[in-house]
Amino acid sequence: MPARDVRNSPDSASIASGPDSPIHPGSSPDVLVVGGGIIGLVTAWRAAQRGLSTAVVDPEPGGGAAQVAAGMLAAVTELHYGEQTLLGLNLESARRYPGFAAELTEATGQDLGYRRSGTLAVALDADDRAHLRELHALQRQCDLESEWLTGRECRRLEPMLAPGVRGGLRVDGDHQVDPRRLAKALVAACERAGVTFHRLWADRLTVVRDRATGVVLADGTRITTGQVVLAGGSLSGRLDGVPDDVLPPVRPVKGQVLRLAVPGQYAPFLSRTVRAVVRGSQVYLVPRENGELVVGATSEELGWDTTVTAGGVYELLRDAHELVPGITELPLTETRAGLRPGSPDNAPLLGPTALPGLLLATGHHRNGVLLTPVTGDVLAHALTTGELPEEARPFTPARFGPALTARTARSALTEPTPQPATEPAATFTEQPA
Ligand SMILES: Cc1cc2nc3c(=O)[nH]c(=O)nc-3n(C[C@H](O)[C@H](O)[C@H](O)COP(=O)(O)OP(=O)(O)OC[C@H]3O[C@@H](n4cnc5c(N)ncnc54)[C@H](O)[C@@H]3O)c2cc1C
Repeated sequence: MPARDVRNSPDSASIASGPDSPIHPGSSPDVLVVGGGIIGLVTAWRAAQRGLSTAVVDPEPGGGAAQVAAGMLAAVTELHYGEQTLLGLNLESARRYPGFAAELTEATGQDLGYRRSGTLAVALDADDRAHLRELHALQRQCDLESEWLTGRECRRLEPMLAPGVRGGLRVDGDHQVDPRRLAKALVAACERAGVTFHRLWADRLTVVRDRATGVVLADGTRITTGQVVLAGGSLSGRLDGVPDDVLPPVRPVKGQVLRLAVPGQYAPFLSRTVRAVVRGSQVYLVPRENGELVVGATSEELGWDTTVTAGGVYELLRDAHELVPGITELPLTETRAGLRPGSPDNAPLLGPTALPGLLLATGHHRNGVLLTPVTGDVLAHALTTGELPEEARPFTPARFGPALTARTARSALTEPTPQPATEPAATFTEQPA
């Protein structure tokens, strides 16, 4: 299937690009970022701050997964066995968040909803408690701050919790930000820093003499540039013209999320993020200062499908209700599904590829909001020096050999097998890796 079919773009049907395509007048930026989600935007902002003339190509900058994401900055509670290397990058980004948020707010005058209210991970039965005990042991091995609480202590912190809560982990260092506000502020910051926006799809990468030289847009216009950053989220593996051996092995991982409103008479409903593993499935509730309560999230391997399903909504509400029974009183204001850009090891692909002139900033999967500050810094460094800084070296795209890259990208191009209409089990909640 051609790349543009999944993008539902009105522009995408009309491309006839070739060597004769018109060149965008006056447009030959130092850096061209394909994809204006939070990762592409932070890259563009930081590049422009370093004096590079920068452009972003995206039909809807500031859209993407950030419009759905919960915004947990959960380096400690999202820790999984085998992901200790990723933990280092997550912690580094969490450390940079206060300065990053302050700088972005200062640059734009916009509040990001950055809230240092902490997280409480709880267990409802003996199995879940055993799982949480294991997570606690792993956190301690990694020198992370988390405190084991009894069920009673958990309820003292959060009185709306179900009486059956058997214990929990208090992690004051896992914070939150509002991803929609983050995306909006990044668009504004880019505009103020002089970044140019091309509100179209990039249809193909142009490569001349084994070097990436720019893109052809959906209207046929060519843009030439010194360096291209591919930051197309879950679509990163689908840009035409990218040679097989550097195509990022990124796939879409669907997540459904609900938004509820906490009316004034119930506030404060929860004072921090509350999350749990309920019968083996992850569920979280993220309370925002503006009264929004985000409940998430499913994790489904269904290609680019973003249908909100009855099964997904049911499971989220059922599990969230077991945790915090009072949620059934709250108005349900929104249901939505988005696509995480998943990578084979759940970690991002950052920096130069084997194709000169092409860099990647993609594959941030569950942690893209958390990793926004460090990604911007890492890519700006790579764009100006050609090197990855120390903290990002484990995340070089080169860690996936050409064989895996091409194979995974090809399989991601295949349409998902349609699920039988009667199979609600197509939705399952997030499992620890
Ligand atoms: C349900 C859910 C919950 C989440 N919760 C959290 C959380 O609590 N904490 C956290 O840290 N992260 C969370 N995430 C993950 C986070 O949202 C993502 O990792 C992050 O938003 C990815 O950003 P991105 O810019 O790489 O990709 P995207 O947001 O997908 O943006 C990619 C952009 O590229 C554009 N694009 C693609 N191809 C082209 C092309 N050819 N031409 C032009 N434009 C193109 C698209 O239009 C899009 O705007 C969650 C994600 C989901 C779905």
